[in-house]
Amino acid sequence: NRKILLASRPVGMPTEENFKFIETSTPEIGDGEVLIRTVYLSVDPYMRGRMSDAKSYAEPYKVGEPIIGGIVGKVTASKNSRFEVNSFVEGRLEWAEYNVSDGSNIRHLNPELAPVSTALHVLGMPGLTAYFGLLHIGQPKEGETVVISGASGAVGTIVGQIARLKGCRVVGIAGSDEKCEFLSNELAFDAAINYKTTPDLFESLKEACPNGVDIYFDNVGGSVSDNVMKLINFQSRTIICGQISQYNLDKPEMGPRVMDKLLKTSSLMKGFIVSDFAEHNKEGLTNLSKWVKEGKITYRENVVEGFDNTVDAFLGLFRGENTGKQLVKVSEE
Ligand code: NDP
Repeated sequence: NRKILLASRPVGMPTEENFKFIETSTPEIGDGEVLIRTVYLSVDPYMRGRMSDAKSYAEPYKVGEPIIGGIVGKVTASKNSRFEVNSFVEGRLEWAEYNVSDGSNIRHLNPELAPVSTALHVLGMPGLTAYFGLLHIGQPKEGETVVISGASGAVGTIVGQIARLKGCRVVGIAGSDEKCEFLSNELAFDAAINYKTTPDLFESLKEACPNGVDIYFDNVGGSVSDNVMKLINFQSRTIICGQISQYNLDKPEMGPRVMDKLLKTSSLMKGFIVSDFAEHNKEGLTNLSKWVKEGKITYRENVVEGFDNTVDAFLGLFRGENTGKQLVKVSEE
């Protein structure tokens, strides 16, 4: 049973050296426990925060201990009457080929409802993040303009499609032409801007948002956000979901200098953590499942094969290698 441990805390961009693979024996289960074989493993940007020891909402990983993340697995042995052998579960578990659980940190999945991998994105944490951030905080109204940074990733793709469902004009910002084409052609965004190649992001945004910006769903922060914020409308809402452009910096960047803009437009800017809305998880998952089933929301997965490639897949998030949700396939279903 191979596992991945945090070997050291990164300074700046994490590297392979910050992780260590170890080989252990396959665990035995006790009464009330289940053995889970990892099928899909999720790599997520927020895990970068847990690799450092700075105070945050999630506890730091401990050096020398396994990385914990989202796992979809198959129950291969069970001494817990709630979980049958061969059933699928999802939970926050170790980056390992096998995990033991007492059932308190896993949920059942129904493979007939949707492919089990979706429990790690559209029908899981990133989908709920999109749902709560946009609907509970942003409160979109028909005809409003929604701008999304980090638009082509796990959260951003779902935010944009929910905003379209609510009758909004949707503008995505992403890091390659291929990602922008995906947003425009496959997800029907009204416009998509490549922030890496546009000669003037502010001018491109102005053109894509002729009526200004009513909702800004921010996944990245930094200079991308400075440009969007110049265009916010009266009583706009800015949702701070993520700040990936800042996660690997030794020193935080200066800014944003947008406070006068918030003041002059009576606007709201609010950060949130998906677990703030945990009491609404059922509502969120019910609606997301319904939209997926009706074909109103689609999703893309970027699947890397093999446990050995987990660290590289994680690092790839910061190089922008994924379109849609980045997953690692560890074993066959
Ligand atoms: P993504 O699937 O969007 O993957 C990360 C993407 O971020 C990359 O593909 C890349 O796309 C972009 N990116 C990487 N580095 C930079 C950079 N320096 N500047 C701008 N963009 C960059 O990840 P998720 O959808 O899982 O997460 C999106 C954001 O939401 C993250 O910031 C994450 O931390 C946050 N989050 C917050 C939660 C909450 O509870 N508040 C819960 C879940 C996620 P590109 O090619 O476009 O640069």
